[in-house]
Amino acid sequence: GSTWANVPQGPPVCITEAFKADSFEKKINLGVGAYRDDKGKPYVLPSVRTAEEKVVNAKLNKEYAGITGSISGTGALRIAAAFLQRFYPGDKTIYIPNPSWANHKAVFSDAGLKVQQYRYYDKNTIGLDFEGLIVDIKAAPKGSIFLFHACAHNPTGVDPSQEQWKEISEAVKAQGHFSFFDMAYQGFASGDTDKDAFALRYFVEQGHEVCLAQSFAKNMGLYGERVGAFSILGSSAEEKKRLDSQIKILVRPMYSNPPIHGARVASEILNTPALYQQWLGEVKEMADRIITMRSLLKSNLEKLGSRHDWSHITSQIGMFAYTGLDAESMKKLAKEHSVYATMDGRISVAGITSDNVGRLAEAIYKVKG
Ligand code: PLP
Repeated sequence: GSTWANVPQGPPVCITEAFKADSFEKKINLGVGAYRDDKGKPYVLPSVRTAEEKVVNAKLNKEYAGITGSISGTGALRIAAAFLQRFYPGDKTIYIPNPSWANHKAVFSDAGLKVQQYRYYDKNTIGLDFEGLIVDIKAAPKGSIFLFHACAHNPTGVDPSQEQWKEISEAVKAQGHFSFFDMAYQGFASGDTDKDAFALRYFVEQGHEVCLAQSFAKNMGLYGERVGAFSILGSSAEEKKRLDSQIKILVRPMYSNPPIHGARVASEILNTPALYQQWLGEVKEMADRIITMRSLLKSNLEKLGSRHDWSHITSQIGMFAYTGLDAESMKKLAKEHSVYATMDGRISVAGITSDNVGRLAEAIYKVKG
């Protein structure tokens, strides 16, 4: 028989297949983690178009970049995980929120870390289980690794307030835990990249040793270009040199060098003051469109006479809303209304448009009341 006869069929890694197979013209895809414009189309930021032209016109060569560069957010997470697995002096267990981005567990366990969860989301309040979170931080063995979503928590859209972050910082510090920030949506939460960096900057100010996995996929719309950064805070220039040397040793046998084109585009935007200002405005526009769609969805449900409290739709932030709909309702939405999203009740607000929000509200109302 074949060498691969015993390789089992794996489950699909994303939900777009059922959506593609549906022939209904007004089907709605709320499963994708990518921004869509108000026509439901993929969006390339004008600042990215301009930066890209500059990069192409500069006729740069295609030499290798330096070894230390990440392949978007996932690559940064993977490098961080490999580094922690090799060098973290304490227990190599990483605590992630329950729930978290579905890929976290796979990235960390494939890199050889043990994965545990801390309490985060309270399904009764459709909000943060702050008490549970603090209790779990305090209960974890001293010197554990804690992963935090820097802003716009995926999948819940529920973030701690600034005051709550301060308490989290204190609890983490008291236990001597190591903080690892995943920042995939900077700017998408509030429309303001500085505001969205609050938690990370506060932790650094408070003297935490942190590492950071950053993605420019969402806030620059560079998804397929794979632009990201892994950062780790060292205590001196000498330590930085040692860390840098080991990160090179980790990356070299993994993928040797990062891709250059998207990184050049991102760098052009970040280092050209006028383009940078333009980009900040475009990030805000994307965030604002999402905020508008949240309130339209909520007001449409209210207009239909829904007897449920939908205030979480507008209180949650970022690209996703955690509707509180169960798997049964999500299946009905797909089967009876051609509205596709993940079974955990998460919908991508970026997939809502002025055109489909009415039909979406009706579908949710029919399923849930
Ligand atoms: N972290 C979180 C929480 C995410 O939601 C995502 C993407 O959906 C990523 C990291 C990484 O994305 P990418 O590898 O496309 O930059």
